[in-house]
Amino acid sequence: MDKYEILKKYFGYDGFRPGQEELIDAILSGRDALGIMPTGAGKSVCYQVPALLLPGITIVISPLISLMKDQVRALNEAGVHAAYINSSLTETQIRRAMELACEGRYKIIYVAPERLQTPLFLHLTERVQISMVTVDEAHCISQWGQDFRPSYLNIVELVSRLPARPVVSAFTATATEEVRQDILCVLGLREPKVLVTGFDRENLYFEVRTGGKDAELLRYVKEHREESGIIYCATRKNVEAVCTALQMEDVPATRYHAGLSAEERRRNQDQFLFDEKPVMVATNAFGMGIDKSNVRYVIHYNMPQSMENYYQEAGRAGRDGARAECILLYSAQDVRINQFLLDEKEIREELTREEAQALRERDAQRLKRMTFYGTTKDCLRAYILNYFGERAPRRCENCSNCLHEFVEEDVTELCRDVVRCIRSMRRGYGAGTVASVLHGSGNAKLKSCGLDRLDCFGSQSGTAEFRIREVIGELLAEGYLAATPDKYALLSLTGSSGELLERQTIMKFSMPKEKKAAASGRRGKGAASELDSAAWQLFERLKALRLRIAGEQKVPPYIVFTDKTLIDMCVRRPASRSEMLAVSGVGEAKFERYGERFLEEIGR
Ligand code: ADP
Repeated sequence: MDKYEILKKYFGYDGFRPGQEELIDAILSGRDALGIMPTGAGKSVCYQVPALLLPGITIVISPLISLMKDQVRALNEAGVHAAYINSSLTETQIRRAMELACEGRYKIIYVAPERLQTPLFLHLTERVQISMVTVDEAHCISQWGQDFRPSYLNIVELVSRLPARPVVSAFTATATEEVRQDILCVLGLREPKVLVTGFDRENLYFEVRTGGKDAELLRYVKEHREESGIIYCATRKNVEAVCTALQMEDVPATRYHAGLSAEERRRNQDQFLFDEKPVMVATNAFGMGIDKSNVRYVIHYNMPQSMENYYQEAGRAGRDGARAECILLYSAQDVRINQFLLDEKEIREELTREEAQALRERDAQRLKRMTFYGTTKDCLRAYILNYFGERAPRRCENCSNCLHEFVEEDVTELCRDVVRCIRSMRRGYGAGTVASVLHGSGNAKLKSCGLDRLDCFGSQSGTAEFRIREVIGELLAEGYLAATPDKYALLSLTGSSGELLERQTIMKFSMPKEKKAAASGRRGKGAASELDSAAWQLFERLKALRLRIAGEQKVPPYIVFTDKTLIDMCVRRPASRSEMLAVSGVGEAKFERYGERFLEEIGR
């Protein structure tokens, strides 16, 4: 078999994605390789296809237990014999897996880096031919990165100890030059083929929303009830609050953060993977190594501290290549909380003062660039790609800024009222309270503080509270107002505030107008937006069948078939074995297992 036949037979795909073939060819010709590709680009295929063509075994080093489990499950489903060795197995299970490995049962073995030096594993390396060592998440070897794992250094020793030096291939989604150099150098790659693919993920739609976060979030999640999504929050407390709010609306949501027991984290994660609870509310502790391909949206309830974090987390949407949405709920308060957290952040002791200062400046700079993402009116995709050093067209027509129209609005009078209001308050209040006073809302808190007796109470009754908050956000960003750097963010006037009251000052902000028809028409149906209503109904039926099969087999639904594969079935409506095998993502093993049932459902 050649590489194309392998790709079709086991993975069900007709062609390679950009970069895959070059890396596979290099590996097959005996060269080391380093692939730098964004999440979802298809790195696994780059080493799994050659692993099946090389004579011996491929050892894949992967940092996370959940990732290994998922990959091995998917390979076995595809008809490839694979195993993993990590601390989730008992010694007896490991011994058994090793025996089978020695008998040549597996082509691919995933190993945790901590396991590389155990006697059992060393014994294996002496008995079998190892054709390739693959380092997944290779940035973990770099001391520059945030994810440095000392145990990754064991890989170097493993490679040098093997009787015949195998091909070494490494993969990561982290693109910075320092990390790349570290990987090449520490792993000792020999004249490697280095391939960096573009960072654009065409199937992802990017959006920034301002306004009341809770209402926006709830509306979105309810509109996308049938879909799986991740909601990232900055703190455990927010995770709890958001998750509870969703559950109260009968949304099947679960949660994940470092404050939960290991047992509960594992259980919640599984419920998410198996689509029993398709909505996950989590801190950034969740996600690395999560391979769930049918995540249809990632919402950031709070803004992360850098674009690197944002793109990595948002990139967990739409790994199957079908349409998915990445939404940032932006608020100026998050910027201040992040600033506060960075100021409080402990700097490693061994650093000199200059180094510590440089690190702080870097963090502040990163936060600034992240904040600009939240406020820019230019194409969001172009902003991201430029940030990562890539050129991009000025407009992508698939982000909220390209699809929204902006209008310049004169907000001079509103700004003046904001200043007057803050001036007339005896003590500091947050933006929410100021907005409520100006709008004139009748809530009890305002009455109990006597705020309903202020002159400016209700002076902006025709303006929605979230719009007033948006304008306050802009005034903060431009230095016309200040806020305490804590979670209360109490507002105060600055030296510039008085300028707003001067006659000649005119304040204009550009504000999003109604969405263009194209944008709203495309929304709502998520991944399957290209389907007509009959095909949409079929998609729903196929999803239900997939869920039943997944339950019977005890595997997550996306391991049976990805959303993208189901969508392709709805478009092609295969009626025979050969037609079914032409569907993207249907390989032979999967056809044997599930093909007939899906054919039957389509023919119904
Ligand atoms: P990464 O590790 O780069 O984040 P994965 O290896 O998990 O990405 O691949 C993402 C998705 O793309 C998977 O569902 C995979 O099956 C699919 N994929 C990979 N290669 C191809 C291809 N050549 N054609 C179609 N889909 C592919």
